[in-house]
Amino acid sequence: MFDKDLIEKLKSSVDIVELVGRYVNLQKSGSYYRGLCPFHNDTDPSFYVSPGKGFFHCFGCGASGDVISFYQKIEDLSFTDAVVQLADMFNVNVPMHVFEETAYHKTTKILENLARYWHNELFKKSEASLNMINYLKKRKIKEKTIRSFELGLSSGDRTLDGFIRSNIKVDQNDLVKAGVAYINNGKLINRFENRLTIPIRNKSGRVVGFGGRVISDENGPKYLNSPESSIFKKSKLLFNLDRAKKSISSLNYVIVVEGFFDVISMYEAGIENVVGTLGTSLTGIQLKLLKNITENILFFFDSDEAGQKATFRAVEMAEQLGLSTAVVQTPKFKDPGELLLKKEPKDIRDILNQAIPGAAFKVHHFSRNLNLKNDQGKKKLLQITEPYLRKYHDQGDNPGLQIAVKAISELTGYAEDSINVTSRRKSFRKAAAPGFSKKKLKPGEKELLKIYFSFLEYKSRVLKILELLPLSSACMEIYKIIKKNDDFELLLKNVEEDLGRELMNTAETPMSKNLAKVILNDLEKCTEKMLIKEQIRELDRKISQVSNEKVKTSLLMKRVQLSRLLLKSQGGENNGS
Ligand SMILES: [Zn+2]
Repeated sequence: MFDKDLIEKLKSSVDIVELVGRYVNLQKSGSYYRGLCPFHNDTDPSFYVSPGKGFFHCFGCGASGDVISFYQKIEDLSFTDAVVQLADMFNVNVPMHVFEETAYHKTTKILENLARYWHNELFKKSEASLNMINYLKKRKIKEKTIRSFELGLSSGDRTLDGFIRSNIKVDQNDLVKAGVAYINNGKLINRFENRLTIPIRNKSGRVVGFGGRVISDENGPKYLNSPESSIFKKSKLLFNLDRAKKSISSLNYVIVVEGFFDVISMYEAGIENVVGTLGTSLTGIQLKLLKNITENILFFFDSDEAGQKATFRAVEMAEQLGLSTAVVQTPKFKDPGELLLKKEPKDIRDILNQAIPGAAFKVHHFSRNLNLKNDQGKKKLLQITEPYLRKYHDQGDNPGLQIAVKAISELTGYAEDSINVTSRRKSFRKAAAPGFSKKKLKPGEKELLKIYFSFLEYKSRVLKILELLPLSSACMEIYKIIKKNDDFELLLKNVEEDLGRELMNTAETPMSKNLAKVILNDLEKCTEKMLIKEQIRELDRKISQVSNEKVKTSLLMKRVQLSRLLLKSQGGENNGS
């Protein structure tokens, strides 16, 4: 359904490093990027991205491909949906009729219609809707905010008949696929029946699911989300990110809260740079979504033990991604929602301003169960925090280190200098596993392959040299493959992991064209000599075998010619061969 030009245009428009970087922490390494593979449990970065060649390859699990297959795989999409979503993201025009045929478009369209349908129901002045509006009023949520978030009400709509009747193109199956209903005893059942509905949008602003809050506390779980699907993945979504993007970017920080109503309440208080984690613990992918917009994260989670533990984890994860963190603590209030209920918007801003740096939060977190009035408790705090201080030190995070030391000093009364952090334990290099002799390329072979992969115009010359030179088994293996097919990605798939890594490293360090020329000339001379020597040896063998004097003479003549040629190619030297 796509023409080739569109696919090519898309591939050239999507920066593979940027796209993959949204999911994987990539480090530049020569002309490549490396990171931990998102497709298998990777500990030693075996995932490579080549910006020049536009592909990724994992030496651990063998996953590889281009931007489209990466997106397809990581988001679990059909080819068509991956193309359309990428095109949308990177501003490549897709013909409207193509877009409209995708499952992504169809499903999000249905969900958007349903969001509006339920939203309208909230203002119908039925008993249920009046109750709901009342509840929202009690939470200090005004109509403007209700409209802005398109909050809705799904009441007395057990089989979604009304919605299906008003949407000719929608059938039961579509609603099941969209995650808002399920079939029970052959009947379609509305998953969000008798709930306040909160549309959840992805970062492009398309509705991909719902959160539902019970109207009365007796009916089922308080909050319910759409089930996981290819378009609704909680671990990859942040509530309100689509609307908060602009404000986050202009204020250069984001407030991360836990629940829907935390977000909505903050919004009500005039704070727009806020996103919600959808009730799951924060994931690396969610943090990376934010990292694309800002490096500064303010966590404002629930004040109970679970919320504080989640905060600790979140700070650690964010620090690992190189983000700068701060934490809001409000022991007197359960969450931001309750804060709005009991305080004025102005007070909320004051509380945000009292946020403490993530490093200090961690120290406070450790101290919460210690008695810091006696030496034992103080010593214990030093002991617990020591590995964390060392980590800041080892990662070169000096601000983090200083903040943590200061916090410890304030809590214990010990001088900052006395909180020893710079003692370094010697680290021992891991010894290579013994007993395995791995296939390795010789230095000269590496140079040749580097030329082969860097300069299109020299490929055939390199191949000729490889054909003539005596090669290591590793290089022979590579030569056999590239002789048949020149595709680097294919090559990586066909060699052992260690050799593949070596090839990556070889191809990623650039070489000047002049140097390449010199090396090629030298090697060609060398192989030329080898060829001549080979011919001379062959002649000698024949000469020793023939008895016919005439033939022998002509062979000897030929040998003299070859010897001259050899002398010439050696630049006049004669080293006796
Ligand atoms: Zn992998």
